[in-house]
Amino acid sequence: MSTRIFCIGQNYVAHVQELGNELNSEPLIFMKPTACLLPVGEPIPFPHHGRELHQEAELVIQIGREGHVASAEEAPSFISGLSLGLDMTLRDVQTKLRQKGHPWELSKSFEGSAPIGEFVPFTAAFDLTDLHYTCHINGELRQQGHTALMIFPIATLIATLGQVWRLRPGDLIYTGTPAGVGPVHTGDVITVASEGIGGFSWVVGE
Ligand code: ZN
Repeated sequence: MSTRIFCIGQNYVAHVQELGNELNSEPLIFMKPTACLLPVGEPIPFPHHGRELHQEAELVIQIGREGHVASAEEAPSFISGLSLGLDMTLRDVQTKLRQKGHPWELSKSFEGSAPIGEFVPFTAAFDLTDLHYTCHINGELRQQGHTALMIFPIATLIATLGQVWRLRPGDLIYTGTPAGVGPVHTGDVITVASEGIGGFSWVVGE
């Protein structure tokens, strides 16, 4: 049972550059309500208050322990599961909100904006700094993520969040997207996959 969805923005240099943004000296954090979660097999509802819907393929961390996080060294002990998900974003709406300095909810926190795969248990077999994942749209490779290229590594993200919030079992962290985001359309099939985690697909609905 998820309690909160933390999301990290602009965590890969090439993605920050493709959107024309400046690098941040601290993680960019926002949240989505858990009502945004969309399991595998359900179509992604196309939100009609914007026009340019982008996929953002992301590695997702599931928290299994309660408490504050003292350090990045301690962070992995808070992880219970790993999965892949999509931070669906209305880019045209986000651009307008950003220009006004307004919050991002209209562009990122609509219903169905957080497609989520199934979780595999986190074990010592996973190296958090060496996880690869891909995103294909209609079979064409669009995004390749490698956690070694994250500006703020997973352990740092958990420690940063866990100093502000008392983490709880079921909390999720969408860890940011690599380059290659772009518009998707009704009928497109978005597939995210990683060795050791699995592959998950969603169709963009109407
Ligand atoms: Zn994102």
